[in-house]
Amino acid sequence: MDHTYEDQNIFAKILRGEIPNATVLETEHSLAFNDISPQAPAHVLVIPKGPYVCFDHFAAAASDAEIADFTRAVGEVCRLAGVAADGYRLIANAGRDGVQDVPHLHVHVLGGRRLGRMLSPVS
Ligand code: AMP
Repeated sequence: MDHTYEDQNIFAKILRGEIPNATVLETEHSLAFNDISPQAPAHVLVIPKGPYVCFDHFAAAASDAEIADFTRAVGEVCRLAGVAADGYRLIANAGRDGVQDVPHLHVHVLGGRRLGRMLSPVS
């Protein structure tokens, strides 16, 4: 997959302060904010501040400090969003088959209700 970063994507604009967001958590290398179109009572997006397109790009190219910060930010968001006790789902869509709309890595933190099965079985 092409990992060329497109800096006009909506999350790049959020990181530059060009459009507003409902911040849940900000750390040195990560930002978390409420999804504008929530699909569960709790739906928070966690993004690294660096220009990474998707998870495998981030894992290969980010520094250890960025990876540690991002991983801890996701965990902290689970607590802040109030879903750590009853459970949650993390989703990171990537590329065409993952149906990724915004080409800046983001982890969806979803919870607050029973979410149902993850995917349909392969027939
Ligand atoms: P994905 O399909 O995994 O790329 O998800 C993109 C997500 O970004 C969707 O859940 C959108 O609702 C969300 N989104 C798009 N624009 C914004 C925005 N300005 N603020 C917060 N969330 C957004």
